Amino acid sequence: MKFAASTTAMLATLLANTSAFTVRQSSAAAAFRTVGASRPFSHATKPLAANVMKLSEPQKELLDTVDVFIFDCDGVIWRGDSLIDGIPETLDKLRKANKKMFFVTNNSTKSRAGYKKKFDSLGLDIPAEEIFSSSFAAAAYLEQTKFKESGKKAYIIGEIGICEELDLIGVPYIGGPADSEKEPNMGPGGKLEVDSDVGAVIVGFDRFVNYYKIQYAQLCINEENAEFIATNLDAVTHLTDAQEWAGNGSMVGAIKGCTGQEPTVVGKPSPLMIEYLESKYGVDRKRICMVGDRLDTDVLFGTDNGLKSLLVLSGVTSEEKLLSPENAITPDFYADDINAFFQTEESAVEST
Ligand SMILES: [Mg+2]
Repeated sequence: MKFAASTTAMLATLLANTSAFTVRQSSAAAAFRTVGASRPFSHATKPLAANVMKLSEPQKELLDTVDVFIFDCDGVIWRGDSLIDGIPETLDKLRKANKKMFFVTNNSTKSRAGYKKKFDSLGLDIPAEEIFSSSFAAAAYLEQTKFKESGKKAYIIGEIGICEELDLIGVPYIGGPADSEKEPNMGPGGKLEVDSDVGAVIVGFDRFVNYYKIQYAQLCINEENAEFIATNLDAVTHLTDAQEWAGNGSMVGAIKGCTGQEPTVVGKPSPLMIEYLESKYGVDRKRICMVGDRLDTDVLFGTDNGLKSLLVLSGVTSEEKLLSPENAITPDFYADDINAFFQTEESAVEST
């Protein structure tokens, strides 16, 4: 796996010029790191298994020690197109308690503006600057690496979210939805001509991926030396609540398969994003808590970056999976959902 640029110099550029962030893919070894064995949490917490504690005294265990919450969206704030019960009230209480909040999603199909509309449609008034989508991360990475100054354009496998974010930074692009109906000439002597000005191929989740797009990306990377950028590597996603669907890992895998190259990944998990938040808001990362419903992305993002982490059971991870001996990724705490942040110990006990 190739890491997005993470040198001090690149970070300085990032912090000086943009609100951009890039993301480094976690190592496989990190995925199996066990944490939490000796953490000095309250004696009142309840050790269950693998040193994972269910949140029982949220004020003392969490709210008193956290200034910034980073929320994954699907499975934490909403499920599909349905807001999880009680979320608006809980977010209001967090704001009243002067907690900063950021909403992070690896889904690149929408831009930040697109996500703002989704928040609006669900009745949540979230400022756009609190939203970090992987479509924004891709644009931010191009901005960080001064791609625009190269005079090149990007080729997109992905949906409108990436296009809208590139529009905002003035980077020209081709592909994306415009190529969803195309087929290459595969008759005798047939070939696909590509634009020699393509300097980057961005691969995001694309419900209309086809062989034309794969071949175009392959030629740009293999023949034109375009940089291979992936918004994220999620294996599965939740198009519907009826089953898991092949995620962007499948699109990225197709391009890896025909180029032999590893992408620069710009989605979660992101050390530079945390460094950006630390710098911009002057917060100590030990007082940041990552809240998500996935162990291998959200919780790992937290543990890899020295944050607190909290797993909610309102998404894809069951309590059984969390507490299974096979699971080695352990958050500091877990809770049924984020409404538990304001439950008293008595009400938490009553609800179990
Ligand atoms: Mg999620």
